[in-house]
Amino acid sequence: MRLFLPVALVLCAAALCALPGFAAELESSYTDPSAPWLRGNLHTHTTNSDGRQAPQAVVDEYAGMGYDFLMLSDHDQLTDPASVDPKGMVLIPGNEISAKGPHLLHVNATKKIEPDRDRQKVLDAIAADRGFAVMNHPNWTKNYNHCDLAVLEQLNGYAGIEIFNGVILVLEGSEYATDKWDRLLAQGKRVWGFATDDSHDNGHRGLGWVMVQTGDRTPDGIADAMRRGSFYATTGVTVDEISVEGLTVRVRAANAQKLRVFGPLGRMLATADGQEITHTVNPEKDGNYVRVEAYGAGSSIAWVQPLFVKN
Ligand SMILES: [Zn+2]
Ligand SMILES: [Zn+2]
Repeated sequence: MRLFLPVALVLCAAALCALPGFAAELESSYTDPSAPWLRGNLHTHTTNSDGRQAPQAVVDEYAGMGYDFLMLSDHDQLTDPASVDPKGMVLIPGNEISAKGPHLLHVNATKKIEPDRDRQKVLDAIAADRGFAVMNHPNWTKNYNHCDLAVLEQLNGYAGIEIFNGVILVLEGSEYATDKWDRLLAQGKRVWGFATDDSHDNGHRGLGWVMVQTGDRTPDGIADAMRRGSFYATTGVTVDEISVEGLTVRVRAANAQKLRVFGPLGRMLATADGQEITHTVNPEKDGNYVRVEAYGAGSSIAWVQPLFVKN
């Protein structure tokens, strides 16, 4: 009789775990699959900082390339979107906080936040304003270390990091930062991956961008969708479908030639030639998240946001 109670508890716990509500599943940030995809770039400079073209010329070029939205992100300077003709695009106010430490974007800003050596103070000020922060080009400079992994681990409150920054193609270091992204994600930090041009002249346009899924074509609507993770980053591959059911993810990209599924610390879990990939996660073996990359012609890649395993 003394064994009866613990045995009953174990049986009860096992029965609860078998209920559908307790099953592990993937958490998708793509919550509005019927909404349109909007193309945009969050990182571009004008003559208001070290860009070579005036704000209107920059806006004209992106509009001409078919972009839906743009953020003029001058260094420590808020370029007022109302000062230019948007040419049909949504202009998101913001800037690149640059002095005194690692660079970061303040997206959908209402005001200029003063740079502070203590970047957590800056992130807290952004959180108290509107919009969100993106840590920029972590692997810029000859040490591939503009922003150290330890700093990214320590800071809190940023929405994501640039996993591709176009201008670093022609500067020292790496334009990619999926190495740091996977290490942050493996630790359970929920950060999204962004691709940007960081354009300073017209040779830096259309290199990396984001595709945001939202029916709300306003600065707030687009910024909120990015904060939720309803977007992917790309250098040329167009993703047509990201569907999640239980522990299974399926991604399709019409102009892809190969797709891969990655888990924590960059471990490849599945690979497929062609336009689509399907993978069912084994939470015990695969870890706390999975993410998909799609490869197209040349060096083009699309990065789908991580799907976290929820128990
Ligand atoms: Zn920068
Ligand atoms: Zn920049």
